[in-house]
Amino acid sequence: MTSNLDPKDWAAFRSQAHNLLDRCITQIAEAQQHPWQSPPEDAAERYAIGRHQSEGNELSARIDEDVLPYHGGNTHPRFWGWVQGTGLASDLIAGMVGATINTNGGGRNHGANEMERAVIDWTRVKMGFPEGASGIMVAGTSQATVIALQCARLRAQGTVRSEGTQAGFTCYAADGVHNATRKAIELLGIGHNALRLIPSSDGQMGASALREQIRKDRANGLCPMAIVGTAGSVDLGGFDDLNALADIASEENVWLHVDGAFGAWTRIADAPWRSLSDGIERADSIALDFHKWMYVNYDCGLALIRDEAEHRAAFAARPAYLQGADQGLAGGDPWFCDYGIDLSRGNRALKVWCALEMFGEEAFSEAITRNCELARLMGQEVISRGMALLSPVTSNICVFSADPDQTPEAQSALNSKIALDLQLSGEAVFSTTDVNGITCLRAAIVNHRSTKEDVIAALDAVVQAKGSTG
Ligand SMILES: *Cc1c(COP(=O)(O)O)cnc(C)c1O
Repeated sequence: MTSNLDPKDWAAFRSQAHNLLDRCITQIAEAQQHPWQSPPEDAAERYAIGRHQSEGNELSARIDEDVLPYHGGNTHPRFWGWVQGTGLASDLIAGMVGATINTNGGGRNHGANEMERAVIDWTRVKMGFPEGASGIMVAGTSQATVIALQCARLRAQGTVRSEGTQAGFTCYAADGVHNATRKAIELLGIGHNALRLIPSSDGQMGASALREQIRKDRANGLCPMAIVGTAGSVDLGGFDDLNALADIASEENVWLHVDGAFGAWTRIADAPWRSLSDGIERADSIALDFHKWMYVNYDCGLALIRDEAEHRAAFAARPAYLQGADQGLAGGDPWFCDYGIDLSRGNRALKVWCALEMFGEEAFSEAITRNCELARLMGQEVISRGMALLSPVTSNICVFSADPDQTPEAQSALNSKIALDLQLSGEAVFSTTDVNGITCLRAAIVNHRSTKEDVIAALDAVVQAKGSTG
């Protein structure tokens, strides 16, 4: 007897799946025709489990109607809200193949783990880490930060796994550091009061203030655990001077972690952007995402740890039923479960591997470089339209105010209204952020589909929205 969990008719399934694949390819190929739209009013009903099965509808018809149209918009060429990658055609292949082999990447002896090692190693080389450095693919930079800071915590207190966190750890980051660092510090039981926010100027943490704070904390009997440098701040796209931070970390004997969620990928951009992340190769750990500026599907991030022994010491713990072997399926040492939180793990490496093998590394360098060029162009176009940049464009992020002559309150209201109007009309997606007390429009360009024409059309739309609002 066959299981009810297999298709009753494989031929019918095959033709349904083929047709659906065709429609998925069309939607990706014609991404510019599919901006974000609000989910349907009756979403709760539409997605309720079991309702439609009884009506005999094919799954693929429901996907056409209820799923494909209501995406988050980040596949569209004029989507620059937050920092969200576009996805790639190669992800279709990876999704299909991934579903076929159904990897559990926690360990054992199979191809996906070797592939993950290859992806980690490729990234290690790009980031300038030494041979033998270690890594693990995770959901994203938020998780990678927890993993990296757990390694840092173990270095600061060798007994932390058995005894828990001793009082008195402190961490250091620029005042614009991403919330992910704060959350990681909370999760590790250190408490975010121990995160010293060092004032930054020109987007960089002040080096002498950092040094002073570390010395002061130490003099007060505290235990400086980690400096968190940022390569690509989420708000404004700023880069800490990572060489300066690495100097301080080595003088003061403190772990240096770099949040490089998207900005780490300037390592493969052309000049002048490449040099923004100089010094990243001196970090003890890096957290980065493939799902942002390497454009692959969610979710896909990496924790990269310089010293494999420290990485393993922070996580390895295998009970008898998970013991490895020299041969057979229980082989394949080392196992990824010894380098992170998860025992069972999906196959994230396949997305990156398919992308790099399909398009080649050079295509990614070009796309990242072009995104920086487009942000620079956007900055120029903002000024030429009589609007104002609220922070210089250093990488791929452009923040601006549509009408700099108004009061801060009026500017904030106007910018928020413009962002909303353009999202609702499907013309372009900007998000907003606060700079010097003004809510401004923000474009973070991690979009391989964006062109000059998109930037110009979007700014024309901003001017028009401003006219009809003001
Ligand atoms: C997005 C981002 C994060 C969080 O990464 P996730 O992949 O969303 O978990 C952390 N830091 C920076 C600078 C980011 O842009």
